Amino acid sequence: MRQKIVAGNWKMNKTLNEGLKLTTEIVNMVADEVRGDVKVILAPPYIHLTQLNGQIKNADRIFLGAQNCSQHKSGAFTGEISAEMLASVGVSYVLVGHSERREYFNESNLQLASKIDIALENNLLPIFCCGESLDIRESGKYEAFICNQIKESLFHLNEEQFSKIVIAYEPIWAIGTGKTATSEQAQEVHAAIRKFIAGQYGGEIAESLSILYGGSCKPDNAKELFSCPDVDGGLIGGAALKSRDFTDIVKSF
Ligand code: PEP
Repeated sequence: MRQKIVAGNWKMNKTLNEGLKLTTEIVNMVADEVRGDVKVILAPPYIHLTQLNGQIKNADRIFLGAQNCSQHKSGAFTGEISAEMLASVGVSYVLVGHSERREYFNESNLQLASKIDIALENNLLPIFCCGESLDIRESGKYEAFICNQIKESLFHLNEEQFSKIVIAYEPIWAIGTGKTATSEQAQEVHAAIRKFIAGQYGGEIAESLSILYGGSCKPDNAKELFSCPDVDGGLIGGAALKSRDFTDIVKSF
């Protein structure tokens, strides 16, 4: 059985008090309403991590994630946050290569490969984001594009390292646009990613890899998306900012 995961990416939203309130609500709703083996990851802004860790420490199923980390170990990189620092405040997962990081901060596949390495060295579990723009989708070459993102950032890993990775497929044209990929479109790409991974790492590792869908996932479409055989959960943006919506998504399996 592959691990089912729902991760909430808060992006640059919520003050500390708002974030603590949202977390309290999610912790309570998950405890009262969620059954079964699903991991819930909350990825707030960096400066909220320490206090959120206090809130979720004793909560079943809930883990802390960061939205990014530096590819450098430490030193003169003003404004950056290292993987080691994240681990030291209780972070378990880190998003690597979100499309907003790729687009607004010019993160390249090779730079992301370094972030993956340093995350793993510090026992953080990377959630590697990939996905195509609308132009690439319309050109029909999206599978090759996504496979190349995965190859350039992940295929230097050995099997043991690779087995720690979670992949999030996030078509850029569906992020924050309200335009969700259909379950057929999501399943097609997820199956293609799994096949590509199997070619490099073998069927067993590919079968145990959790592949999340991200892009305008909401309570009313999560059930259909999560019922696809190769969709193992979701990376949630907008709907992660509302406790009711987020918990309902977690309950969609
Ligand atoms: C995201 O940014 O990872 C995301 C999926 O956002 P949204 O759910 O708002 O489309």
